Amino acid sequence: MEKIDVGILGATGVVGQQLVALLERHPWFRVAWLAASERSAGKTYGDLAWRLPSRIPADAAPLRVAPLEALDSAPSLLFSALDASVAGEAETAFAASGRLVVSNARNHRMDPLVPLLIPEVNPDHLALLDAQRRARGWTTGGIVTNPNCATVVVAMVLAALRQFQPARVLVTTLQALSGAGYPGVASLDAVGNVIPYIGGGEEEKIETETLKLLGRIENGAVRDAGMVVSAQTTRVPVPDGHTAVMSFELSARPSIEEVAAALAAFTSEPQASALPTAPEKPIVVHAAQDRPQPRLDAAFGGGMPVHCGRIRRCPVLGYKLVALGHNVIRGAAGAALLNAELIVARSRSAGAEPDRGAVSLASARDIETQTR
Ligand code: NAP
Repeated sequence: MEKIDVGILGATGVVGQQLVALLERHPWFRVAWLAASERSAGKTYGDLAWRLPSRIPADAAPLRVAPLEALDSAPSLLFSALDASVAGEAETAFAASGRLVVSNARNHRMDPLVPLLIPEVNPDHLALLDAQRRARGWTTGGIVTNPNCATVVVAMVLAALRQFQPARVLVTTLQALSGAGYPGVASLDAVGNVIPYIGGGEEEKIETETLKLLGRIENGAVRDAGMVVSAQTTRVPVPDGHTAVMSFELSARPSIEEVAAALAAFTSEPQASALPTAPEKPIVVHAAQDRPQPRLDAAFGGGMPVHCGRIRRCPVLGYKLVALGHNVIRGAAGAALLNAELIVARSRSAGAEPDRGAVSLASARDIETQTR
C-alpha cells in the first residue's frame, strides 16, 4: 500500500516531535508537511532544536515549517499538537478547509459534535463525525480528538471494568513534567518537589472527559456514563509517565481476582483489527507490589499500554489500584496516531462491510486517494 501524506500542526513541541518520531517508520502514513508558530515558520525543521533521544527522522529534517495561515498547502489528514491558546481557531479553520484534524488539544474535546476517542474504549463514537459534518456543512473536513493524558489512563481502567458498573471514582494523579510541554515547569519549582496544582482545568478534564468517553451514543449524541469521578492532580519530578492512584466503587461487587482478570483480558477493536500502533495488550497487570513505576514501565510496548498494579480492597469505595500511562505516547502522540489508524481502517472496511460503524467515512477514503 502506498503511504498517505500527513501534516502536523505544532510539530516543534513535545507532542509534535514525538509524532514526527513515531511516524518515521509508520506503515500507512508519511510526514509531508509541518507547521508551528511564527517563531519557527520559514525555518527548516532540521535546523530547529530536536529534544528526543533519537535522531531527527531523515524525511522530516529537510521540510520547511509552514505558518498556521498556510491552509492551502496542508495535506488532507492533519495531526494537531498545537498549544491550546491557538488550537481552537486553527483546527476549526483547517477542518473548514476540508482537512480531517486529529487533535491532542483540549479545545474541542467536549463539543457534543466532536468525537472524543480512545479506540479501545469507544470506537463507535466516531459516528459523531458524520453529525459534525452535516451540522457544519463540511464534506471532507472534521475534527476528532483524543483525551487528556491523565484521563486516558483512568478511562482505560474503567472501560475494562464496565461489566462491573463503575459508580464512584476517586483519582489522585502524579503527573510527569513532559505533560506541561516545552519548556514546561521551571526547574527550581519542579526538582525535589510536588506541586499540588496543574493549570488548564486538569482536574475538570479528568472528571468530565471520562464520562463522555464511557458514555453511549443515543439518538446521534453521547449520553454521559452514569458515574461520578473526583480528581486531584499533582505535578511530580518524573520525566515521562502519569501515575493515577484510584479508588472506586463497582456496583456488581466482583472479587479482586475478577477485577484483575478483567483488566488483563481487556481487548478491543484496535487489537482485533491489528492497527499498527495498537499495543498487543491494552492493559498490563503487574503482580509485583512495587509496580507500575514510570521509569521501569512507561516506555514498555512502545509506550502504548496502560499499566495496573496493587489491585486490592479499599475500605471506603471497595477497590483500589495504581495505574500508569506514558503521557506523551498513550496520552498524546500515540493516541492521535491510533485514532487516525482507526479512521483509515474503518474507511477501508466500509466498502466491504458497509454496516460496520455508523459513520460515513467517505472523506477518509478521499484521504487515501491522496497518496504519493
Ligand atoms: P509544547 O511543547 O508547548 O508545543 C506547543 C506547540 O504549539 C509548538 O509546536 C508551538 O510552536 C506551537 N504553538 C504555540 N503557540 C503557537 C502559535 N501562537 N501559533 C502557532 N503555533 C503555536 O506543547 P505539547 O506538550 O507538545 O502539547 C501540545 C498540545 O497537546 C497541547 O494542546 C497540549 O495540551 C496537548 N497535550 C499534551 C500532552 C503532553 O503530555 N505533553 C498530552 C496530551 C495532550 P513553536 O515551537 O513554534 O512555538
